[in-house]
Parts: sequence; structure tokens; C-alpha cells
Amino acid sequence: MDSTDMGEDLKEILITEEQISSRLDELAAEIDRDYEGREILVIGVLKGAVMVMADLTRKLHTPLTMDWMAVSSYGSGTRSSGVVRILKDLETDLEGRHVLIIEDIVDSGLTLSWLKTNLESRGPASVEIATLLRKPDAASVDIDVEYVGFDIPNEFVVGYGLDYDQKYRNLPFIGTLAPHVYGG
Ligand code: 5GP
Ligand code: MG
Ligand code: MG
Repeated sequence: MDSTDMGEDLKEILITEEQISSRLDELAAEIDRDYEGREILVIGVLKGAVMVMADLTRKLHTPLTMDWMAVSSYGSGTRSSGVVRILKDLETDLEGRHVLIIEDIVDSGLTLSWLKTNLESRGPASVEIATLLRKPDAASVDIDVEYVGFDIPNEFVVGYGLDYDQKYRNLPFIGTLAPHVYGG
């Protein structure tokens, strides 16, 4: 963490770079088995999923194409409401495609639940979800997440694509922030 120059902002490292990489190896093997003989349209949800999209797709052998979507979830404070606005839509026609949505984290699951329904209405052959992280609240929402990297406690995490105030996305690991960063 010294090399990032952000060491004093961090409380602890929850998941190391090595742990992320070996878990993505396992997920990629699982996805390759599940999609054998098919082609995947992998959809990354900007901006948080950029790192997991880049690293996971490089471990896949299944033929694939990539597209990106950006959505914004209206909510009060840090809670999302499930009311979602599309900031950047796909450039790909989903008709008959096997869609795999890549997310950084599922918390309430409301954003993803909306997104899945939206994509399903565009005529794809299938829609599945892969997320690097999942928080406990996700269990209470009726959303099927096929591929989960890590189940984590209900703490605010940053790094590996995840931000606080748009910062820390470039940390190569998942960590928690020191209280002084939040103005504490
Ligand atoms: P939800 O699943 O509640 O609809 O919202 C998920 C979104 O909330 C994620 O895509 C992410 O942008 C944000 N989010 C939820 N938990 C965390 C967290 O611990 N850290 C960060 N950086 N973002 C989070
Ligand atoms: Mg996200
Ligand atoms: Mg964010």
C-alpha cells in the first residue's frame, strides 16, 4: 500500500490483490464451463466494474464481445432507491444474445434488479450477473446473482474500481477507509 501513496487514508485491507486474482481464476473457469459452445456479451457497469471487467474477461476463453452501460440510482444519501436513470446506454442489440452483466458490488441489489429487468425486455437469450462483491443486504432482494467473488460484511469499501468521492478506484486491493477520510 505504500506504492499507492494513500496508506494513511486506509483502515485495513479486506481482500488482497492476490486473493482477487485467484478468485477471478475460479469464476472464469466456472463461466467457461457454463457457456461452453456459446458466445457471451459481457456488459460492464461503469465506473466501478472497470477493473473486474478487465481482469475477469482476460481470464475467459469463451468467445465474447464487450459493451458498457452507465446508470445512476436516485437515492437519499448512500441508500439507492431502485429508481434508475440510464446515463450511457449500450451500443449492442441484445436480441438472441447471452448477456453477462459485470458489477463491482451488490448492496441492496435495487440497481441491479432494475438493470436486469431492463435488459431482459430487449429480447436476449439469457441474462446472468457476475459481481466481485456482495453485501449481506443483497440477501433480502429477490435477485439471482449467478457468480459472486466474495461475500463481505456491511462496511463501506473502496479500491479495485470502487470509489469514495470518485477517489481510490485505482487501489489494486479492496480496503476500508480511516474515519478521518469521512471527515471524522
Ligand atoms: P445497490 O445494490 O444498493 O442498488 O447499489 C449498489 C451500488 O452502490 C454499487 O454499484 C456502488 O456504486 C454503491 N456501493 C454500495 N456499497 C458500496 C461500498 O461499500 N463501497 C462503494 N465504494 N460503493 C458502494
Ligand atoms: Mg456498480
Ligand atoms: Mg460510487
